[in-house]
Amino acid sequence: MFFIEVVLPLSLAKTFTYRVSEAEFHFIKKGMRVAVPFGKSKIYTGLVLDVHQNEPGLYEAKEIHQILDENPIATEIQIKHWLWVANYYMCGIGDVYRGAFPSGLLLESETTISHKTDVRVNDSELSDDEFLVYEALQHQSSLKVQDIISILNKKNIFPILQKMISKDIIVLEEEIKENYKPKLIRYVKLHSQYESDSGLGQLLEVLKNANKQKEIVLAYFQLSASEKKPITVKKLVEVSNSTSTVVKALIEKEIFEEYYLQHDRVSFDGKASEEFLQLSAAQELAFNQIKENFTQKEVCLLHGVTSSGKTEIYIKLIEEYLTLGKQVLYLLPEIALTTQLVSRLRLHFGDKVAVFHSKYSNNERVEVWKQTLENADKAQIVIGARSALFLPFANLGFLIVDEEHEQTFKQTDPAPRYHARDSAIVLANFHNAKVLLGSATPSIETYFNTQAEKYGLVTITERYNNVRMPEILLVDLKDKHFRKRMTGHFSDVLIEEIAEALSLGEQVILFQNRRGYSPIIECMTCGHVPHCQQCDVSLTFHKHKNQLRCHYCGYSIAKPSHCHACSSIDLTTKGFGTEQIEQELLSLFPKAKTGRMDQDTTRGKFGFEKIIDTFKNREIDILVGTQMLAKGLDFENVSLVGIMNADNMLHHPDFRAFERSYQMMTQVAGRAGRSEKQGKVVIQTYNPNHNTIQQVTNNNYMGMYKEQLYDRQIYKYPPYFRIIKLTLKHRDFDKLKEGSFWLYQVLSQNLKMPVLGPEEPAISRIRNEYIRTIMIKIPQNLPLGSTKKTIQKMLNSFEAVAQYRAIKVVINVDFY
Ligand code: ADP
Ligand code: ZN
Ligand code: ZN
Repeated sequence: MFFIEVVLPLSLAKTFTYRVSEAEFHFIKKGMRVAVPFGKSKIYTGLVLDVHQNEPGLYEAKEIHQILDENPIATEIQIKHWLWVANYYMCGIGDVYRGAFPSGLLLESETTISHKTDVRVNDSELSDDEFLVYEALQHQSSLKVQDIISILNKKNIFPILQKMISKDIIVLEEEIKENYKPKLIRYVKLHSQYESDSGLGQLLEVLKNANKQKEIVLAYFQLSASEKKPITVKKLVEVSNSTSTVVKALIEKEIFEEYYLQHDRVSFDGKASEEFLQLSAAQELAFNQIKENFTQKEVCLLHGVTSSGKTEIYIKLIEEYLTLGKQVLYLLPEIALTTQLVSRLRLHFGDKVAVFHSKYSNNERVEVWKQTLENADKAQIVIGARSALFLPFANLGFLIVDEEHEQTFKQTDPAPRYHARDSAIVLANFHNAKVLLGSATPSIETYFNTQAEKYGLVTITERYNNVRMPEILLVDLKDKHFRKRMTGHFSDVLIEEIAEALSLGEQVILFQNRRGYSPIIECMTCGHVPHCQQCDVSLTFHKHKNQLRCHYCGYSIAKPSHCHACSSIDLTTKGFGTEQIEQELLSLFPKAKTGRMDQDTTRGKFGFEKIIDTFKNREIDILVGTQMLAKGLDFENVSLVGIMNADNMLHHPDFRAFERSYQMMTQVAGRAGRSEKQGKVVIQTYNPNHNTIQQVTNNNYMGMYKEQLYDRQIYKYPPYFRIIKLTLKHRDFDKLKEGSFWLYQVLSQNLKMPVLGPEEPAISRIRNEYIRTIMIKIPQNLPLGSTKKTIQKMLNSFEAVAQYRAIKVVINVDFY
């Protein structure tokens, strides 16, 4: 008997065994997809991990429905990497599989399909099955795959749907509706048996009673003689003055064969620039040092101050790996940053740059997937956010993790809760590839690894082109308030500096780490603050919509006119966000054009790009934004950066708060003065003598690093201890309290290391679920693997307790 081992896109740790025929057994290879039944009536797209002859002992293996690929669509290294991710981050291999594949390749019986409203389909171009699906969707806006299975009355429909998706006739409903034109073109060619010289005569004989069809065949021969290129159905119909129905008849008679040519949607027309990139002496030195490091080490950190020209060094290195015929993966913390980078890389590498983008449609992602797998010319350099890590690289030689300190590289939800930087290093190891981490403000963990000589280290301390580091002015808010030198949230110093920059035609960035107008509304009479009904947080006031909104669950109410507790109408706003700063600017600088960049204004496919473009084109004078501003954007006309309030970052209850504040402020400050003129940064704070603020002011990374490292050791945090955080959730407060205490006790009895909790987090209820956390600190000298096994065992016994089974447990390894 013949079997395959299959992973399903479900949150399950196990793989499943299915039966196949002998012929299938010889055809199937690891990395191919199969449609398989699961449970009573479900159908999933599974991925073959192994082919074997061992009958499962515990259950009778079901038969597969269908093989979906002719060749593997995932590589062995990729699968090995997924297994590592699942094991290290303590999640199911199914979680990784589901997160890695574009959902267009993972059809299942529950998938909901819709038709594309903006596409006109010529009925005659559809097969009978396709037509039935198409027609069914004309009457209902969407259908589940299992409905379509009953409509067509067959099980094996994934290939039909897949084809319709790739033709852009139908889409998965989960997809955001986007406008882009389908670019799939239909061609025909003669069946091979008619291709010979005698083919025409033979054909005319076959078609002697079908005049219309004969005309098309004649037109085909004429066209192929004169044009010597593939013939589209459209052209054929035009030339022969016929209809596509007649072409369809010829296809059915197996005289013509139809095929589609994939026209790339994600392609760039830019030509590679001939312009030769000249590195500065400092860049050249760094470039050579990196290469030197790579002869000894697999990973190297490039610690270069903001605007030192790290990107140009990446480009030079990429060039070298391309010459060796290797693929390059370039990871960015924020997908919105790709636009700027892609245009820079295009200048040098033209069409060789592919982008893997969660905001792109399924078809676009599937295309990049296939190009990566085939090692196509177009996917020699793949740019993407963390999920690009899971693509099927055929021949990966070099990985760049830019802004490696960014916390967005760690996925929080859903599983796999992986860190893309760390997983990239493991992937590189499987490929025998090199990794370059780049940052002006490296994470403590990474810098620690350079000091332990695990990673190489290359430093650039000067900016490109001798641009000076910005001058930093500290403004003491306490003093300014006391002396009445504040207008709203602006100190006199900041106002003066803004006025000067504007008068010189320069641009300004103002940083406020909070969106919305003002976080809360407070009653002046009784102090009541409106809270979310479902979450343990106060509601945020959004002036533009005149609403109070919950930033955790989206719950919103109109702004109240009176206090819900005491009915007083004396309500005030407390704290401030980006929206309020924009508002204040309006009265301070009525002639300046302002813009805002935060989660509220950058929604939609190109929201972020639009704001960046208008700012780059100088249609905005003052840009107000949240931490999105800190992420490696390059604007040459910005001479002033204002940090409205440095303190709310410092006071986060989080062991990384100081490190992050340092990184954020240094990065935002780095946006100032990137051309010849020295830039200025105004930092407003109540604590001008705070160590972290002093370290930012003096550009003292080492000071920050040493101080934080000391604290981490004392308080048992990374890099000295690895942290696993367990989050328990349940709607019943008492049950959760009891259950989390039970788990805490079992863990602390069985683990010889600090176990903390169960703690009630600062926000202890979200969407009506109460929350408790347990933190496990694993010292460096204890083996990680066996500790995780013990934890997993404890979690299994927790689940076995009937009254706790309903408590959800989320495991976050290397919690960020
Ligand atoms: P970083 O990523 O280190 O902050 P960038 O790579 O964005 O710095 O470089 C800062 C600016 O200097 C960019 O505008 C870039 O185009 C320019 N630049 C850097 N190196 C070179 C070079 N070798 N030749 C021309 N321009 C350069
Ligand atoms: Zn009140
Ligand atoms: Zn809420």
